[in-house]
Amino acid sequence: MSERTHDGESHTKCANLVAEPLNTPPAIASPMVCYALRLGPGEEIFSTLMKFVDENQLDSAFIVTCVGSVTRAKIRLAHATAEETNKILELDDKFEIVSLVGTLSAGGHLHISLSDRKGAVIGGHVLGDLKVFTTAEIVIGQLSSTVFTREMDTRTGFGELVIKQRKREK
Ligand SMILES: [Zn+2]
Repeated sequence: MSERTHDGESHTKCANLVAEPLNTPPAIASPMVCYALRLGPGEEIFSTLMKFVDENQLDSAFIVTCVGSVTRAKIRLAHATAEETNKILELDDKFEIVSLVGTLSAGGHLHISLSDRKGAVIGGHVLGDLKVFTTAEIVIGQLSSTVFTREMDTRTGFGELVIKQRKREK
């Protein structure tokens, strides 16, 4: 942030600190339809959401919000590469879902933050086994004008999200 000098120059100083982007990625504006659902004790969040997306033929769906708690979770920690994806944590305790974000269509890609009984937070890439403790209140968004696919990105070695314009609005 800028040093505030009260001399009228702070705006200029602030602007000087903002780097000019080299380019911006193309993005497709789209309306969305939302689905709200609640999962109960014992249900597994990831597989249920994948099934919901499949059954409702949602091809550009993502998590709008999720709050709840789990008794288990399987996450992959940071630093994974396509060659070495074995940094996996299998959690078996009660956690609050502090955040669950990501895309659901084309196989899904979710990240989660979980807090334990002391409030300590751990998070990572969701592999599954998100067994609900008390509840999971979830809102899913589906974009009307786009279709999600995943294609191999040779820069990362992973199948990465590709966003295409829908031919006809759903
Ligand atoms: Zn990830």
